[in-house]
Amino acid sequence: MSKNALVQDVLEKYKPIWALDHASGLLEWDIETYMPVDASKPRGFAQAQLALMKQERVTNLASLVAKAEKQSDLTDYDRGVLRIIKRDLHYYTRVPPSLLEDLQRTATEATVVWRDARKKADFGKFKPYLEKIVDLKRQEAEKLGYQGHPYNALMDRFEEELTTTDVDKVFSALVPNLKRILKKVLDEGKYPTSHPLESATYEEASMRRVNEEVLRILNMPERTFRMDVSTHPFTAGMATEDVRITTRYEGKSFKDSMYSVIHECGHAIYELQVNPDLDYTPLGRGSSLGLHESQSRFWENFVGRSREFTKLVYPTLKKNLSFTSSHSEEGIYKYFNTVKPSLIRVEADELTYNFHIVLRYEIEKKLIGGEVEVSEAPALWNNMMEEFVGVRPENDGVGVLQDVHWSSGGFGYFPTYSLGNVIGGMIYDRIQKDIDIKKTVDAGDLGRIKAWLREHIHKLGATYSPKDLQQRELAETYNPEHLVKYLERKYL
Ligand SMILES: [Zn+2]
Repeated sequence: MSKNALVQDVLEKYKPIWALDHASGLLEWDIETYMPVDASKPRGFAQAQLALMKQERVTNLASLVAKAEKQSDLTDYDRGVLRIIKRDLHYYTRVPPSLLEDLQRTATEATVVWRDARKKADFGKFKPYLEKIVDLKRQEAEKLGYQGHPYNALMDRFEEELTTTDVDKVFSALVPNLKRILKKVLDEGKYPTSHPLESATYEEASMRRVNEEVLRILNMPERTFRMDVSTHPFTAGMATEDVRITTRYEGKSFKDSMYSVIHECGHAIYELQVNPDLDYTPLGRGSSLGLHESQSRFWENFVGRSREFTKLVYPTLKKNLSFTSSHSEEGIYKYFNTVKPSLIRVEADELTYNFHIVLRYEIEKKLIGGEVEVSEAPALWNNMMEEFVGVRPENDGVGVLQDVHWSSGGFGYFPTYSLGNVIGGMIYDRIQKDIDIKKTVDAGDLGRIKAWLREHIHKLGATYSPKDLQQRELAETYNPEHLVKYLERKYL
């Protein structure tokens, strides 16, 4: 697609790197789905070798990329290609292999310890590992370089150019509004805090049929997409002709399984609708984690938790899950939208979810900035949980130890969840200038919404950085007002 000879050369040399990513992505998908339990050693070996091969090939592109960058006839596409490769180059040249290895090894050990510590609610067991990881991540931030706060260097890995100034601005506008809306909803009881369907048990085979019908409603393609089962639902975008999602079947409260499907389909639709010309290039994927999460949240919440979508799934629920037949469509809608301040992030509703993120963000920022010690994290967590959500963890297993991210070194990842909700709100507002979304969902014409998203967001892949893409298509960046407006309209 490039007319520039040097960029063409870069793209030619990028093809094996794309193939390595493709292979490594498929191995990761297999780990979560079908790999025999004891196969983790050879898999870890193979993954590490692939990573080294990638690093070598990317590093070899340095001088060619530098030369290509100086060309005067570069298009947005060319600049996007060079930008993404430069991000990898920056990482590989700044972070020494010894630090990468140390991080990798510590994370592998720490994840095993964390699992046990969470089960026993024993923070003391995990503390020395977390201290080591925080220390290594602080070293990583120093090596990568940053302006302002060292945490910026870590967030940039997941959301390009994101700074604490951006995130502070989002949360300072979001938090007081969420508190206000939540208080009113709880006081007035317009949405229930619990529902009898939460304890209803289902047969996996019946729930599979419901989820397959959800795929049909979302018009997911049969020949380029598949769904499997894993403990933690995720999406693997291998290419625009090969995207896979997973869901889980816990046998209770069927909405968890169904909304995992809708959420992951949001990620999948993004990957499936990238312009196929971008396949085998660095641009054939979503722009950032925040943008990606905006797509999953858009389908899961803005579309999936609406009255209109409830109407679409109601017939299949009654048909496959007999215990739902005594509930009206409105009753099911209320079950889909219970509002309950709870301790666990992954169980949180639309109104309380972002509180779970703001407290993780504040703690991460302070740990990386050296403003608090690891030993202070549990108390900080519990105090903020009480302040924001109004509940206090009885033990660290349901508090500071609940998520896997810190043991795997994923500092800087959490904020992208809230950015996803925020960008989802911006898209929900913008799309309605062209489409009456409630009417469209009511008519089951979800293809229209998908087409809009393809034209404005998906087809561009990673051509533009997340900030540039938002500015171009939505005329603003990370503006939480639209999310607040949507929540007010729905809940007040
Ligand atoms: Zn997601």
